[in-house]
Amino acid sequence: MRSMPSPRLIWFRQDLRLADNPALAAAGDGPILPVYVLDEAAAGRWAPGGAARWWLHHSLAALGEALAARGAPLLLARGRAETVIPALADAVGADEVMAGRLYDPWARERDARVAEALGAAGRRLTLLPSALLHDPAELRSGSGKPYAVYGPFAKALRARGEPPAPLPAPDRLRGVPHPAGGEALAALRLLPQPPEPDWAAEFGTLWTPGEAGAAARLARFLAGPVRSYAEGRNLPAIEGSSGLSPHLHWGEVSPRQVWQAVRAALPEGLDAAWPFLSELVWRDFSYHLLWHRPELPEAPLKPRFADFPWDPDAALLRAWQRGRTGYPIVDAGMRQLWRLGWMHNRVRMIAASLLVKQLQQPWQDGAAWFWDTLVDADLAANSASWQWVAGSGTDAAPYFRIFNPVLQGEKFDPEGRYVRRFLPELARLPDRWLHHPWDAPEAVLQEAGVALDRDYPRPVVTPEAGRQRALAALATLRGRA
Ligand code: FAD
Repeated sequence: MRSMPSPRLIWFRQDLRLADNPALAAAGDGPILPVYVLDEAAAGRWAPGGAARWWLHHSLAALGEALAARGAPLLLARGRAETVIPALADAVGADEVMAGRLYDPWARERDARVAEALGAAGRRLTLLPSALLHDPAELRSGSGKPYAVYGPFAKALRARGEPPAPLPAPDRLRGVPHPAGGEALAALRLLPQPPEPDWAAEFGTLWTPGEAGAAARLARFLAGPVRSYAEGRNLPAIEGSSGLSPHLHWGEVSPRQVWQAVRAALPEGLDAAWPFLSELVWRDFSYHLLWHRPELPEAPLKPRFADFPWDPDAALLRAWQRGRTGYPIVDAGMRQLWRLGWMHNRVRMIAASLLVKQLQQPWQDGAAWFWDTLVDADLAANSASWQWVAGSGTDAAPYFRIFNPVLQGEKFDPEGRYVRRFLPELARLPDRWLHHPWDAPEAVLQEAGVALDRDYPRPVVTPEAGRQRALAALATLRGRA
């Protein structure tokens, strides 16, 4: 008599999809137990923030339905993974646990503990790369060191050739009966809980978490914005970019699926697709940095920033968080973030720059707010981007560059459609004054129904004072390594 193959545990983490999922594909038509474990203790301060939890709830619901429809319902659990995973493996007699590899420092440590606990019971954890174009440990510069600068990294990645074709989604799965210990999705309490106000009420107007939502978002990008991405991506008033960031973060679509789809949509060649594909490479680069410099989320990569004269000020930070800095392009961005859990990339740069340069607030405080409010909050991309804006990253914007939020607003939102959408209190101001209402003549303000200080604040720091402040702080860096 043929013996039944031992079931495998498929441990879902940030690869919440069925297609191009190497762990699922490796299980073939053997019996599986698909599992998600909410392990907040392991993640510590990097456990998903509020907006990301909203996303996770809906993504798990979608994944659970898709798995159940194919015959292998998802088991949800919470607790320390090094306890929960071995216990589940034991309960169903699984010799092997398979998962997509994660790169956040806390996850690496946690996975090592899980592997050890499984190993002690004669079982094993197999981690398969599935979240990036290339595994960060693989790419090394000619001198054998990790890359610190994007340009050579991108060149090396391109030289390795294009990613392999994605794996198809399995049609049918063979689930084993669930052992005890599962939780209902609601019991994970990922959504805003009363009496907390439902700050996510509008998220659903923009987002559909889950693999099908990711595919629809990708299709929408390919049907239009992809062709004019190079110009459109900088204009926050239009849908000029893909909107795939939260889907990519949670692995509802893989970067190689996106790569292949974009290449197929732009058959002119790799160069035609490069403005967009290079952003996927930036994503990989952020992970490369995080892998090789695990201090990325906490500490400046450039040593000379170690004693930078930040000037923490709770009131300034709060004005920025609430979208009340008095700079319309920044405030519109911060309100977009609060209402929709996402902010346009150009505006992220302008808003972050104001906080760290003119307002001299530590970049870690800005990154923490983004962590809590972005549906795409991603430890690698968020930390690398904040360090890039602050100038403290290895491949940063020149540290002495100070974005002028008025000029940036006029350049990238010239008709003010973005600002008017998120700051309705300024909607009737003429374009000429929209990005610097404090300069508008009183009669113009009155005509537009705007009373400064009452309806909309004056700038928390004037453009000139902010610039001087930033320059003075930056001058302390001169001559340091
Ligand atoms: P597209 O322009 O369509 O780009 C396609 C994909 O490429 C994105 O979905 C994303 O996965 C990746 N990507 C694009 N730009 C970057 C970048 N600069 N670094 C790394 N990957 C990139 N992105 C996040 O995914 N999570 C974050 O937490 C995050 N925090 C940021 C913080 C700051 C201060 C700044 C300036 C940028 C941050 N970004 C972050 C990068 C970027 O703003 C977003 O990825 C982008 O706005 C997402 O929109 P999109 O999907 O339409 O991007």
